[in-house]
Amino acid sequence: MSSVDISALVADARAGRPSAVARLISLVEDESPHLRAVAAALSPYVGRARVLGLTGPPGVGKSTSTSMLVSAFRARDLRVGVLAIDPSSPFSGGALLGDRIRLHDHTTDPSVFIRSMATRGHLGGLATATPQALRVLDASGFDVVLVETVGVGQSEVDIVSLADTTVVLLAPGMGDGIQAAKAGILEVADVFVVNKADRDGADQTVRDLKHMISLGRRSLGPSWRQPIVRTVATSGDGAAELVSALDAHHDWLVSHGELTTRRETRARREIEAIAVRELRARLGGVRGGEVLDRLAEQVAAGSLDPYAAADELTGKLG
Ligand code: GDP
Repeated sequence: MSSVDISALVADARAGRPSAVARLISLVEDESPHLRAVAAALSPYVGRARVLGLTGPPGVGKSTSTSMLVSAFRARDLRVGVLAIDPSSPFSGGALLGDRIRLHDHTTDPSVFIRSMATRGHLGGLATATPQALRVLDASGFDVVLVETVGVGQSEVDIVSLADTTVVLLAPGMGDGIQAAKAGILEVADVFVVNKADRDGADQTVRDLKHMISLGRRSLGPSWRQPIVRTVATSGDGAAELVSALDAHHDWLVSHGELTTRRETRARREIEAIAVRELRARLGGVRGGEVLDRLAEQVAAGSLDPYAAADELTGKLG
């Protein structure tokens, strides 16, 4: 492992070599000893990619829509990275790709890189690995990165904190879709998609959505109105309209200084998450955990209050 030449890997990734991109993602995903060196090597190259988040209930057509968008961006000759996040799956790496038939259409295109990310039993692992994987794709020169995930607002992977633009998908006949909207999807959407517009009920879904938007208008600042785009992801109908809506949102972000604000918010969360983890590890490690064990006994027995215990513990940090 010590023989990993990180700058060569980064150079290869930037030259468009998918194996180097995959290797770099593995290095950040596995929390290898090279993690810090990889992060440092990537740093000068990040900040160029447009990050688009796609979310919505299972079966709504996220994978199909991701594939549709990949085609649309490829038609513009843009390089596209995809991170498909599955918080519930025990698999990682390429393991899920077999299921993603739609995305298979793109697997032979060297300008498209697709990676499935899963927890693999690491609690909170995705929360740290995903932003790093995003950095790898960004630094590798992908123009657009699509981050696809089930649901929204999970504590584990909060797509909203990752993406410049968040797309929320709904589909007709999915009562739970609108339920999900009630549960907070409205606040996070920059663009709504009513997919499966070939199905009965699409008009009703659009009406329901408009109604909900009118009730729960979030304070987005002065001028952005969440558009509703109808798509048929299986046929590509509506792809052009969706891309236009995404472009319009990007322009809005730039012209209102929001892009920088969102990216700084993302960076802030990333720094905090790393710092908190480090701190927790250091606190637990004070004299091999002995101190925490002793304090816990005292607090449980009532001979010490937890605030005093916490002060004592933090006081022992160098
Ligand atoms: P995901 O779970 O949100 O990623 O959904 P998928 O992309 O896997 O799609 C779920 C199912 O819906 C698949 O069988 C798709 O072929 C189908 N599907 C996706 N988009 C459309 C659409 O616009 N119209 C119709 N009729 N079916 C669709």
